[in-house]
Amino acid sequence: MHEVSLVRNIFRSLEDTFSPPELARLTAIDLTVGKLANVEPVLMQNAFDAVRQSQPEYAGVTLNIELLPILVDCPNCGSRFEVAQYRFVCSECQTPSNQVVQGTELLIRRVHFREEEGGA
Ligand SMILES: [Zn+2]
Repeated sequence: MHEVSLVRNIFRSLEDTFSPPELARLTAIDLTVGKLANVEPVLMQNAFDAVRQSQPEYAGVTLNIELLPILVDCPNCGSRFEVAQYRFVCSECQTPSNQVVQGTELLIRRVHFREEEGGA
């Protein structure tokens, strides 16, 4: 399941960015996933649960997934349209296009931390 390695990569990049005391206060991760990113949100959540079980330090962390629609530019009329049902055809002039401008993202948009108590 490639979602498990994605989740491990997410935690690894957070471990590179934040110190252990900071990570101990981590409460949630906001993930932005494009519909072309080849990631199934349900599988991602399952993988996240599995990784959390093997790493108790992250037991209290939740994962929020925001799905981004696929946006494509039309080479003919220049309009930007949303792809539905993997139909890469301009909604204005019916010209086929594969000029994807959004939808392949897989990124950590934001991380949430618990407030530090008593400056500890
Ligand atoms: Zn067009």
